Amino acid sequence: MTRRMWGVVAAVVALAVAPALMGRFGVSLLNDIGIGALVALGLVMLTGVGGATSFGQAAFVGIAAYTSAWLSTVQGWSPWLGLPLALLLTGVAALAIGALTLRLGGHFLPLSTIAWGLSIALLFGNIEALGRHTGISNVPPIALFGVSLSDPRAVYYLIWLLVGLAVLFCHNVLQSRPGRAARGLRGGAILLASVGADAFRVRLMLFVLAALLAGLAGWLYAHANRFVSPAPFDVRASIEYLLMAVAGGLGHLGGALVGAAAVLVMKNAVQDVLPIFTSAGGRFEAVVFALLFILLLHHARGGVMGWVMRWTHKRMAPAPVSLSPAQAAPLPRRTLPVRGERLLAVHNAVKRFGGLVAVNDVSFEVRAGEIVGLIGPNGAGKSTMFNLLTGTAPMTSGRVEFLGQDITGVAQRRVANRGMARTFQHVKLRPNMNLLDNVALGAHGRTRSGVLAAGLRLDRREEAQIMAESLAQLERIGLRERAHELAGSLPLGTQRLLEIARALAGDPVLLVLDEPAAGLRRQEKQALADLLRKLRADGVTILIVEHDMDFVMKLVDRLVVMNFGSKLVEGVPAAVRADPMVQAAYLGAAVEPAPAAADAAPALATENGAAGR
Ligand code: ADP
Ligand code: MG
Repeated sequence: MTRRMWGVVAAVVALAVAPALMGRFGVSLLNDIGIGALVALGLVMLTGVGGATSFGQAAFVGIAAYTSAWLSTVQGWSPWLGLPLALLLTGVAALAIGALTLRLGGHFLPLSTIAWGLSIALLFGNIEALGRHTGISNVPPIALFGVSLSDPRAVYYLIWLLVGLAVLFCHNVLQSRPGRAARGLRGGAILLASVGADAFRVRLMLFVLAALLAGLAGWLYAHANRFVSPAPFDVRASIEYLLMAVAGGLGHLGGALVGAAAVLVMKNAVQDVLPIFTSAGGRFEAVVFALLFILLLHHARGGVMGWVMRWTHKRMAPAPVSLSPAQAAPLPRRTLPVRGERLLAVHNAVKRFGGLVAVNDVSFEVRAGEIVGLIGPNGAGKSTMFNLLTGTAPMTSGRVEFLGQDITGVAQRRVANRGMARTFQHVKLRPNMNLLDNVALGAHGRTRSGVLAAGLRLDRREEAQIMAESLAQLERIGLRERAHELAGSLPLGTQRLLEIARALAGDPVLLVLDEPAAGLRRQEKQALADLLRKLRADGVTILIVEHDMDFVMKLVDRLVVMNFGSKLVEGVPAAVRADPMVQAAYLGAAVEPAPAAADAAPALATENGAAGR
């Protein structure tokens, strides 16, 4: 057994015997901790994994609590019927709020959570049927197999069973296709789109998941406390939940439990101690908590679990899945177009950034099975051209055709899913995910499993296929042995190779590579050239920007040269090398009569060798 598993077993045993060793007050506190942990768990997923901060989770707790309280008290329904309806309403509310606010960037998203958190809490206090500020009392307890769970000791086991299942669910999700996409969110929307995923939908998924966990907590809260009123669901409560997640550690699922315990135990202590010093206890409590929050953010960003993990030399990333690639049937592959067929056509592409014309009326074609190089001095517009043809950035004017279809204005994610995979000049990897997960992200668009399937481990067959595919791609770039290391530990040049493996995991028809050899050593470059030739032999088409002329000239079938945003010339390497305009562009001189080709070549290589760095 791993150390992690021992930890889990110890926690389960401790939780199982705890009620026997504690008084009624202690058990009630543990119940509150369990309920708080559910909300904090959602925040670990939403904020810790997804990077979206919410100051409004208590509103979701409230929606579910009020729904089930009202249904069971006023309508006389069983709490067990209240649960699905409470979750449904919470989920729908989260979908609506998320759809409206999750596209907001920067600080606007957290600010908006305060806004809706406040308004929902206000709503509870103003609806006649919900008892306004007095709330709803005499909420019935949950009954299980005819046994009423009105005693804190009885409901304790239900609460902690649900906490355990929720942690397991989230743990499974993190090790799956949707979980990798969620962990990829911090790499930015462009990274996700390049593997065929939609960052907005991934964030919405996390938002709804977090809301449903808060909803589950709300249901338990209503029936364990037997009473609901607006105060426990206001923004102050939301901040307390966020404090739990931060104190426990946003980087770890266990942080939710540890944080809930730490905050609630501390809150109790503060409530016991403060009255000794001041009579204005309530107000000072908020001040004490705010101070603690600030101290935490300054001195222990990783929270308690971050500290524990460092101490035990462990990493945040979930333990690697057991791999059985031998049994996995390979993922289905695309049929590649016939060699020589027109694969990509760029017509009169223009891109303006304000007054600057980065790409100026460029047209060219790529045929299936070729390697085409796009070269030109720094700032010539090559990367911008790549952004235009992959759909990463919109064109000012012009047209792109891919596989016989017009893809002008088509979202990057859809272009990727049609078989165009790319790498980036400025590497976009998730440094704290391991190599294997980074590559597996590339297979996102080829696979289907969603959160529910992943959480319930119904995705294991597909997951094994993804892992087998990813390992095979890692093998191709010679990094299979390091599959479980963190991507951030690789040198920059090798990270570029990892991006290629990720692109290949998408089973591309066209591979678009922006300076893949930059930062590689001589032998590594050689290995990369061999890999690209092998891919060409397998029928993959490649479009490549590269500054190392020696590398490019030996590799490509055709070259397109750009300078100051315009296409200068196009042709086979030897012809391009001999072209006086190309030499002039590279040497920065005015167009002069062509020097002998043999003399020009070395100059070209050195000039761009330097520029590549
Ligand atoms: P290359 O990849 O050939 O070195 P780029 O395509 O990166 O060149 O850049 C072409 C020109 O466009 C440069 O002058 C660069 O400063 C400018 N440029 C690129 N991206 C942007 C942007 N997002 N906003 C403004 N200018 C840009
Ligand atoms: Mg560039």
